[in-house]
Amino acid sequence: MKKAIYAGSFDPVTLGHLDIIERAAKLVDVLVVAVLENPNKKTLFTVEERKIHLEMVTKHIENVQVDSFCGLLADFATKIGASVAVRGLRNAVDFAAEYQMYLINRKLGKEIETIFLAADEEHLALSSTNAKEVAVFGGNIDFMVPKEIQPFVVKKYQK
Ligand code: ADP
Repeated sequence: MKKAIYAGSFDPVTLGHLDIIERAAKLVDVLVVAVLENPNKKTLFTVEERKIHLEMVTKHIENVQVDSFCGLLADFATKIGASVAVRGLRNAVDFAAEYQMYLINRKLGKEIETIFLAADEEHLALSSTNAKEVAVFGGNIDFMVPKEIQPFVVKKYQK
């Protein structure tokens, strides 16, 4: 059974993330979407909230499971029996960062293989950070965040 992991902050999950999830799920038997818990990073949503959001937007995809972890991606992948890490690539900046991470994983002697999926052109300018920057000023995030999740984002910024 081919199990893959797609990890990120998903703070909040965007349409770009969802596109990568839908496409990656078609390539493997099980795709674990994992929220990375970083105690040093201030986030808009708690890990539990982000897991609930991911479960909501992926409920139509049978082979997706949602989880969370704290620590090295490769260690978590080994723990859950995933042999592949999925990453999304929007541009050369993503590529540089992702390639470094891939090399570091190799140096750490981790067995995991990484596959990169190119972002859809509609999502090239999308990031969780951009979505938050628009939402904080009451802008329209229809094209950024899945519609079920939009009310949660809007609520966080309501005075
Ligand atoms: P970070 O891990 O820096 O917090 P994210 O959680 O936003 O970043 O991203 C997790 C993964 O999703 C990364 O591989 C990232 O490149 C990818 N990704 C982020 N936004 C998009 C997008 N709009 N289209 C495709 N892939 C994306």
